[in-house]
Amino acid sequence: MIKAIVMGGAGRMGGRIITLISSTDGIEVVGAVERKGHPLIGTDVGQNLGLGTLGVTIDDDLSKCVEKGDVIIDFTHHDVVVDHLKTAVENKKAMVIGTTGLTADEMESIKKLAEKTRCILAPNMSVGVNVMFKVLDYVAGILGDDFDVEIVEAHHNLKKDAPSGTAVKMAQIIADQLERDLDTYGVYGRKGVIGERRKEEIGIQTVRAGDIVGEHTVIFGGIGERLEFIHRAHSRDNFAKGAIRAAKWIVNQNNGLYDMQDVLGLRES
Ligand code: NAD
Repeated sequence: MIKAIVMGGAGRMGGRIITLISSTDGIEVVGAVERKGHPLIGTDVGQNLGLGTLGVTIDDDLSKCVEKGDVIIDFTHHDVVVDHLKTAVENKKAMVIGTTGLTADEMESIKKLAEKTRCILAPNMSVGVNVMFKVLDYVAGILGDDFDVEIVEAHHNLKKDAPSGTAVKMAQIIADQLERDLDTYGVYGRKGVIGERRKEEIGIQTVRAGDIVGEHTVIFGGIGERLEFIHRAHSRDNFAKGAIRAAKWIVNQNNGLYDMQDVLGLRES
């Protein structure tokens, strides 16, 4: 039985992960952690989610429960993830990071720390989105420079970072395939008399509205035709299921940084 600790256990994703683990074979929740001062610290995580008593109390620091777990699942906030990974490394635990909005410095720290433990970092854990990553790479390679690339992402009005990590990853995959520097050619919103579109631009537009779980549309606009690839998440459960699949997979890997392409076996195909 794989023992999981859920960071952000009272959050939207943390709650769904704990709920789905409770009905998944081969994995159980042995710890849950929330930020210091959270009103649910000290309460039973199962009671809060309507699952009955699970016997797992929400702690306010990972160090208080880290020894109990095999794998730490983190859907929290970007500025605390590196500290959580440090604790994972010190205690030789595997880690699944779903948190988005990481800065370049935080990414660098994660890459370095992951040399010393098993770690998955994926801005989107859904199977459908990860298949779409693969498809976009393939399609961009065929269409080349003749088609304008625009990405539109939409999320709920509580999302804190923009554009989504998923949209950025899609843009990066296409930029890499087309040998373009995303820092130079990424365009995040447009306004005013900005002149004609540069051929190499990769536009990334953000919508925030209501309770949209997550939508990503990638447009390849040509002359006289266009292709659109759309992924729509209907609920958070697709991300939570992906995170649980990742947690079960990562515990048996060697040290290093992996993503969902590795978990799903899409890396070489
Ligand atoms: P949320 O605000 O509902 O939950 C985050 C939780 O983390 C909160 O309860 C907060 O109190 C807690 N937290 C903050 N600091 C903490 C700390 N130091 N220790 C423990 N807990 C702490 O947000 P959410 O909708 O659950 O999303 C969380 C993150 O996951 C965001 O970055 C979001 O973009 C990302 N996300 C990723 C995927 C994916 O597939 N990778 C899917 C959905 C959301």
